[in-house]
Amino acid sequence: MTQDFIIIGGGIAGISAAARLSHLGSVLLLEAEENLAHHASGRSAALFEPRYGLAPVVALSFASEDHHRHAEGGVLSPRGMMIVARKDQRDGFEKDANTMDLQEISISEARNLVPILNPESVAYAAHADQAWDIDTDLLLQNFAREARAKGARIVTSARVIGVTRTAAGWSVQTPDNTYETRILVNAAGAWVDAIAALAGVEPLGFTPLRRSMARLPAPGGLDVSRWPMILGQGESWYAKPDAGALIVSPAEEHPTTPHDAWADDMVLAEGLARYEEMVTEPVTRMLANWAGLRTFAPDRSLVIGPDPKVPSFVWLAGQGGYGFQTAPAASQLVADLIASRPTGFDSATLHALSPARLR
Ligand SMILES: Cc1cc2nc3c(=O)[nH]c(=O)nc-3n(C[C@H](O)[C@H](O)[C@H](O)COP(=O)(O)OP(=O)(O)OC[C@H]3O[C@@H](n4cnc5c(N)ncnc54)[C@H](O)[C@@H]3O)c2cc1C
Repeated sequence: MTQDFIIIGGGIAGISAAARLSHLGSVLLLEAEENLAHHASGRSAALFEPRYGLAPVVALSFASEDHHRHAEGGVLSPRGMMIVARKDQRDGFEKDANTMDLQEISISEARNLVPILNPESVAYAAHADQAWDIDTDLLLQNFAREARAKGARIVTSARVIGVTRTAAGWSVQTPDNTYETRILVNAAGAWVDAIAALAGVEPLGFTPLRRSMARLPAPGGLDVSRWPMILGQGESWYAKPDAGALIVSPAEEHPTTPHDAWADDMVLAEGLARYEEMVTEPVTRMLANWAGLRTFAPDRSLVIGPDPKVPSFVWLAGQGGYGFQTAPAASQLVADLIASRPTGFDSATLHALSPARLR
């Protein structure tokens, strides 16, 4: 049977697209790994900060807010965000606070929120409530349930190893099967350009950037659950409560190739040192560490829609550090573009998100 849509990739991009496209026709999602969300989508910091990123990304994030807040009972819970900076970082601090619309607070107010901040090194702090935790598992499950309820098939351990053009669209090979489809949706995360090359479509120049993370025991045994996410000026590190512990990231952007990423010990150590400089509790133990790939287009906006030269090949790519927070609107946009429906975005935003801008 020829599918209407085959989606390659079982991360948040592919699963959310499966949910949306299941309302338009038959859907088959192919995921290489044994489990969904094995790569970037299983390794995020799970934050919804709609002002984070360039204008087209911010447009997608704000357009996703209603879904995050209300669909299936909602997936957001309050977190808040704080930037901290040294005395020599005043200019960058003001720029960060303006971009993210944070209000400057005193160091004692900052220490009321996060008691481990070191008053000898933290000279400036700014805070806002407008950042939320995303229950990423629930978001994934909700989209997967919606897709399956509409008849979509989600097949794991199905690595796509060949893609060829046919009269009707595409023939897609996995080690065990060959599937036919009218439209191919490329939601393969770090591997999107590799999938394009496999299909004979010109790649768009994506770069996977590694970002590492350490999970630390709650500093000083404190209850961290209500602490905001804390960022070093210029996103030089960040820390965020996570299930009773604290996750700390060096926030590095290390260009790499698509692979199953792991944390770099030296980068982690340097990042933890930047965090330690600003707090009173030393890092004595690490519970776990990991890394994920944040994959960006050359201009760092998402890439959504049919390829201009091969319209039956549809990109849903370049989610970078925003894949969860933008997923509701990005998946809706890909479905609206495929169905030639109005999208709710202005033409400049649509162009800034289109594959055509990169050709
Ligand atoms: C440390 C870190 C922190 C982050 N924090 C946040 C945050 O706070 N908020 C936020 O919104 N985002 C955040 N992100 C970004 C977010 O995690 C990603 O943007 C998102 O997960 C990307 O989803 P995806 O589905 O495009 O990619 P992935 O989750 O990587 O999924 C792509 C899938 O395609 C599959 N695939 C590849 N090739 C093939 C093939 N040949 N055949 C079949 N399947 C294939 C892969 O196995 C993979 O499962 C963070 C990321 C990292 C690494």
